[in-house]
Amino acid sequence: MKKIVVIGSLNMDFAVNVKHAPKVGETILGDDFRLTPGGKGANQAYAAAKLGGKVTMLGAIGDDTYGQMLMDNLRNAGVCVDYLKKTKDSSTGMALITVDENSDNSIVVIQGANKEVDIPYIDSMLDIIKDCDIVIFQLEIPVETVAYAARRAKEFGKTVILDPAPAQCDLPQELLENADVIKPNENEILTLLGADDSLALDNAVGLLREKGAKNILVTLGADGSCYYGQDGSEIHVPANKVKAVDTTGAGDSYTAAFAVNLSEKKDIKSAMKFASRVGAMAVMKAGAQTSIPTREEVELWAEA
Ligand code: ADP
Repeated sequence: MKKIVVIGSLNMDFAVNVKHAPKVGETILGDDFRLTPGGKGANQAYAAAKLGGKVTMLGAIGDDTYGQMLMDNLRNAGVCVDYLKKTKDSSTGMALITVDENSDNSIVVIQGANKEVDIPYIDSMLDIIKDCDIVIFQLEIPVETVAYAARRAKEFGKTVILDPAPAQCDLPQELLENADVIKPNENEILTLLGADDSLALDNAVGLLREKGAKNILVTLGADGSCYYGQDGSEIHVPANKVKAVDTTGAGDSYTAAFAVNLSEKKDIKSAMKFASRVGAMAVMKAGAQTSIPTREEVELWAEA
């Protein structure tokens, strides 16, 4: 099996239910506190390992209790965490989340150590990148680091998958060019272009390609996913019909599952079908990492 390296963020999420988010100067009571591992990079590494991939995570944590917990959590899922950077200069990344009565979130993100995933660190990890086959990126670490690491990965002939979230307008052209597959959801593709939702998907795909993107895989929630190949091919895979409970982490688990299937030398359409099953199973349960099925569960579900 081919090896996967995920280069990205690790966060500890602190979530609490409240009646309403506190206003300036206000103290409120909350309940049902939850401490859960997160960060898009860590979520994808966790999911890929749980789905049977051979995964190494590159990223940074602080020299603190939460960093240790995040590392242990990934290690327990089977992810190699030996090369994470441990920094004394920043705390582990965190997200402070209030969820109000209407299920609306307010979130404060403390990037912390994630900001320290820098070019010298990537340079010290080139042997790890050389030794893998597929590299997955998101955008919760500095974008110049992502662009640099993607360039180096491409120089070594690796397959680069870019999950461009959180999306930002005007990504460096070289990053778009170095991604073999860029995988936005339907909102993210518009944000990448600085466009609003009056822009039709086909046109958005065309514009992203003009900016340098090669193969574009757009996920469409309950409407499935669509792959637009550089060679003009188009593949649509409908979503599996399920009752969605919590859509958090659907995209992360889709990206991870897609990469795991590619690492097993499956073709694009098979990888999309597998990823769709995993995405559907993920929305049937609450949480990001807690909702990710094992490989065995996915296979049993497919047979049912
Ligand atoms: P994101 O979490 O990035 O917004 P999407 O919501 O597009 O990503 O979900 C990723 C994939 O997960 C979809 O392409 C689909 O295959 C699956 N999925 C998401 N929501 C549902 C749903 N309600 N029912 C079935 N499958 C879903």
